[in-house]
Amino acid sequence: MQFKDKVVLITGAAGGIGIAAAKAFQKEGAKLALVDLKKEALEEAASSLEDSNVLLLEANVSKEEDVKNYVEKTKAHFGQIDVFINNAGINGAFGNLTEQTADNFNAVFGVNVMGAFFGLKYVLDIMKEQKAGAVVNTASNGGLLGAPGMGAYAASKHAVIGLNKTAALEMAEYGVRVNAVAPSGVDTAMMKSIETNAMGDNTDEARKQFEASVPMNRYATAEEIADLMVFLSSDRASFISGSYYRIDGAQGAT
Ligand code: NAD
Repeated sequence: MQFKDKVVLITGAAGGIGIAAAKAFQKEGAKLALVDLKKEALEEAASSLEDSNVLLLEANVSKEEDVKNYVEKTKAHFGQIDVFINNAGINGAFGNLTEQTADNFNAVFGVNVMGAFFGLKYVLDIMKEQKAGAVVNTASNGGLLGAPGMGAYAASKHAVIGLNKTAALEMAEYGVRVNAVAPSGVDTAMMKSIETNAMGDNTDEARKQFEASVPMNRYATAEEIADLMVFLSSDRASFISGSYYRIDGAQGAT
């Protein structure tokens, strides 16, 4: 029970990685504040959790007022925020850069960059006062490498890595650690949308081809990403900050 009596705030919690993280932290005794766009989706995802100590918060992370509100509500309800899993994200804006529009880019940046920034802005203020806390930002291998056909996504996740490093440097003196995970394909709704974009209904074939590009020949499970998030948030990672971790079946080593 590494997180007994600890409060863990997770965004994008109705999605594949978010709910897997919620389960993993709950197994370790955490109290949970879960954020996503729609309460109904959150309620459905949270029905797979034990119902004790779970706060559900509807918010659009790309809107600063919503973010201020979910952070304030978490603090008011639980009195503290020990761990922040800054995870909500979208892909979209498929197509090469020459085909992109400002609106496409802004939509992806609004969630992946501004959403991550607003979360850090308000949560770090609380952690700074607590003189304790751990943050895990969800980046991507697209935050480390180019991603042809997904330029807005790749650029947005590179920005997340920049936020991650900066936040770690700014918070080090307060005992707050900030790290990021950088997965390649994870078996969630997001990956399904990438398969559909690549090959329409033929998602089985798209999946086969994507998996073949991974040396370990498969997608990650959401639970594997959640386990890394738990480790990075725990005291066992007490001297790790400002780092990002590839979790990609050796794909980034090629
Ligand atoms: P997912 O689509 O299952 O979950 C994403 C969740 O974020 C959804 O529940 C969605 O409603 C929520 N969300 C989207 N926009 C939001 C907004 N404006 N406000 C609040 N919530 C919002 O996908 P996932 O794979 O669980 O993605 C989680 C994170 O992991 C994302 O940041 C994604 O970029 C990242 N990631 C995913 C993969 C992958 O292959 N699935 C790989 C690398 C990184």
